[in-house]
Amino acid sequence: SSGSDESDVVVIGGGPGGYVAAIKAAQLGLKTTCIEKRGTLGGTCLNVGCIPSKALLHSSHMYHEAKHSFSNHGVKFASVEVDLPAMMGQKDKAVSNLTRGIEGLFKKNKVTYVKGYGKFISPSEVSVDTIDGGNTIVKGKNIIVATGSDVKSLPGITIDEERIVSSTGALALKEIPKKLVVIGAGYIGLEMGSVWGRLGSEITVVEFASEIVPSMDGEIRKQFQRSLEKQGMKFKLNTKVVGVDTSSGGVKLTLEPAAGGEQTTLDADVVLVSAGRTPFISGLGLDKIGVETDKGGRILVNERFATNVSGVFAIGDVIPGPMLAHKAEEDGVACVEFIAGKVGHVDYDKVPGVVYTHPEVASVGKTEEQVKALGVEYRVGKFPFLANSRAKAIDDAEGLVKVLADKETDKILGVHIMAPNAGELIHEAAIALAYDASSEDIARVCHAHPTMSEALKEAAMATYDKPIHM
Ligand code: FAD
Repeated sequence: SSGSDESDVVVIGGGPGGYVAAIKAAQLGLKTTCIEKRGTLGGTCLNVGCIPSKALLHSSHMYHEAKHSFSNHGVKFASVEVDLPAMMGQKDKAVSNLTRGIEGLFKKNKVTYVKGYGKFISPSEVSVDTIDGGNTIVKGKNIIVATGSDVKSLPGITIDEERIVSSTGALALKEIPKKLVVIGAGYIGLEMGSVWGRLGSEITVVEFASEIVPSMDGEIRKQFQRSLEKQGMKFKLNTKVVGVDTSSGGVKLTLEPAAGGEQTTLDADVVLVSAGRTPFISGLGLDKIGVETDKGGRILVNERFATNVSGVFAIGDVIPGPMLAHKAEEDGVACVEFIAGKVGHVDYDKVPGVVYTHPEVASVGKTEEQVKALGVEYRVGKFPFLANSRAKAIDDAEGLVKVLADKETDKILGVHIMAPNAGELIHEAAIALAYDASSEDIARVCHAHPTMSEALKEAAMATYDKPIHM
């Protein structure tokens, strides 16, 4: 068939960037079509990213708690075991319910959903090879590229998704490996390493850089690494993988110091390659219409998300910026607002980042290192969860809150939290930053007792005065 009627907005890609842009466009009264090749909506995040990883993090945490902590709370059972297929089943059910939910939202908002691989044939026409084997031309006054990102491998390492896996394979292992080596100490590697470590794997994380999660505040990072080590995770930092041999059944890795030097070997049953992600623009025909990308393949856009080609926009992981689902969603909404003649805005300095391990680490705004580099005079307020009554009551008191505030104005510059539920706690700080609050503003807001949130109030207090409970 050939779609003769033109849409106002055509979105290529149905991930958190694309599907949110499509729903928002439809809500603003624009005739909207979304093209997705995967066959299910939600993109990387819902199908093989945020959601399945959080499902497994939760399930494995429950197992680990049952095995190691329940007895501290006076809850005893004869034995605890892992039923891996059931655990995977719960994850798969969560994913399929949520992807179907987005399809429902498309129907509700009258977004046309085309299942297939889109390719530009002109700046206003996309040829789609549909999943059922056909082809259709989709026309749009405005086309938004939201094709996201894909796993990046390393030179000389072939991902087979069985013994050498990407995050996608690590979310679907059929048995618990005895030894799992994680290449790359970013948040994805640490999250997946935590999952399998809790289920019984021996985890070694190999990282080229001298530290884990480079974007993290240094002081928090140190405590975080110590916590992971206490949980049994081993780290080989300043180390590169120079060879991978799978000829002997398992995997033998050859390692070398990052700066060169004597080689060592490391055995593994499974190796997870989590060394970053790369923008996905393959087969999209960007060169055909002349859309500019940077050296890494990211599509270049202006503050309205417009590419150099009139009528073509791009959002999410495929453009520069943090590769995070919530950032992609914000991009999507702002991009569509511009297309609809309104004004959109994303403040990239205030995008929260969360590592969903246990404890979680969440941050928003600047790290102490960044504040120092800017030459701003600042104060630090800290409060440990060991002094927080709720954390003590539930016997889960590892971590701290760290608030950075401008020395002169007391304006909050950054907040960093390590705590079991840091990913939820951080949004109070995100709102404070968005409204240019001072740390005293937070400290003078009444916080319910006993809550973990009180630790943020006390850390805020500690920037300009003394906390009460320390
Ligand atoms: P994507 O989600 O990648 O979606 C792009 C979609 O476009 C895909 O479905 C793809 O099939 C489709 N597509 C591509 N090309 C075409 C084409 N030519 N035609 C049709 N369709 C096409 N982020 C967080 O914020 N929090 C987390 O906890 C988190 N956890 C993660 C865990 C893992 C293991 C991974 C891998 C990622 C995680 N992320 C997380 C990152 C998050 O998944 C991405 O930032 C987010 O999905 C980006 O959204 P997007 O819409 O830009 O792209």
